[in-house]
Amino acid sequence: MTASPDVLVVGAGIIGAACALRLTEEGMSVAVVDRPRPAGGTTAAAMGQITVMDDSDAQGALTLWSQELWDALAPSLSAIEHDPCGTLWVATNDEELDEARKKEQWYAAHGIESSLLHPGALREAEPHLNEDLVGALHVPGDSVVYPPNAALSMLEHAVRAGATVTTGCEVRSVDASHAVLADGSRLHAGAVVCAAGNHTLGLLPRPIPGAAIRPRKGHLAITERYPGLLRHQVVELGYLRSAHGHEDVSVAFNGQPRTTDQVLIGSSRQYDRTSDNVEPDVLARMLARACRFIPALATCSVVRCWTGFRPATPDNLPLVGPAPDAEGLWLAAGHEGLGITTSLGTAQLITDGILGRPSAIDAAPYLPDRFAENSHG
Ligand SMILES: Cc1cc2nc3c(=O)[nH]c(=O)nc-3n(C[C@H](O)[C@H](O)[C@H](O)COP(=O)(O)OP(=O)(O)OC[C@H]3O[C@@H](n4cnc5c(N)ncnc54)[C@H](O)[C@@H]3O)c2cc1C
Repeated sequence: MTASPDVLVVGAGIIGAACALRLTEEGMSVAVVDRPRPAGGTTAAAMGQITVMDDSDAQGALTLWSQELWDALAPSLSAIEHDPCGTLWVATNDEELDEARKKEQWYAAHGIESSLLHPGALREAEPHLNEDLVGALHVPGDSVVYPPNAALSMLEHAVRAGATVTTGCEVRSVDASHAVLADGSRLHAGAVVCAAGNHTLGLLPRPIPGAAIRPRKGHLAITERYPGLLRHQVVELGYLRSAHGHEDVSVAFNGQPRTTDQVLIGSSRQYDRTSDNVEPDVLARMLARACRFIPALATCSVVRCWTGFRPATPDNLPLVGPAPDAEGLWLAAGHEGLGITTSLGTAQLITDGILGRPSAIDAAPYLPDRFAENSHG
């Protein structure tokens, strides 16, 4: 590891990997450290949809910018299974169809291509969907990647540009110019980026008022290979209610075609769970929901199920920017269910911040000190 690099990145998930890549591309010396292995945290569990979301203007700005960055970067990364399959937001009733129309207007206002499909066109686009669906919004610009390989490939590029990646480094705390490891030794750097996912806030020298990251458990399942069963990422419009709701367990259908011809089935959301065990009742609900949208799935075999913990913040936006009162310490964490998508925008915000230059989007909505009274408003 470089004795005292320009930047020390703590955490080699998709966020730390993307930061390491952008920082080295700018000519900085970068050292990345992680506990067990790179890309083994939440990044290893994710679906990998790269999507523009319209929940808030801030989320829209970060996801749209990130998607543009993904489209530019993806061809240079290795084995990431990039699939420009697009998304179908499917409606089960007229109320959801109205939501699809609102989404279409928002996308149009932001220059994003989308179109409403009536039931006949939907069946043509995706023949195995339930015939009772009343329509869908097709967003052709969305894509899918395989998240752990994407993080590993970004790290490989960073290493080729001079970065170091060291595993087996349990970080106990971070500050503006160093990290303290579990064995008491210190790693020094010109700046520190803390990208330790769910564990980020626990490593800081002091709490940030109002800021929190709550692990939000999610289940996924993947089928055997069924060529032609699914062509697009298919998401029920009720998914947004699940993502924003605070029920004990919420389940919404999200189906994804993999380049292996498998179908990846999601997903659930639960707070206050510490065990990563697959919970049979939650899995059963999730699979039943999937069969409601794609009846043919009922005869398919699932080969693997797993869980992961999304790092969720109180306002569904990540914590990206300088840590208050610790000049040189930067946070890049709390991306909930959008960290694969927003990794590249996050890395660009961090890089611009460290270099002291403005970003292509307003950085204020993501600043870690935004929850404090009298913050930037
Ligand atoms: C079921 C599910 C589906 C998802 N689907 C999508 C999707 O389709 N699209 C999308 O955009 N996002 C999706 N996400 C969200 C996405 O996976 C996360 O937002 C993203 O992976 C977070 O990345 P990260 O780098 O912040 O965290 P992590 O991947 O958890 O990385 C943090 C790293 O820090 C290391 N670390 C932690 N503590 C320490 C320490 N003390 N010392 C040293 N190292 C440490 C960990 O070992 C880990 O490698 C999904 C998530 C889940 C759970």
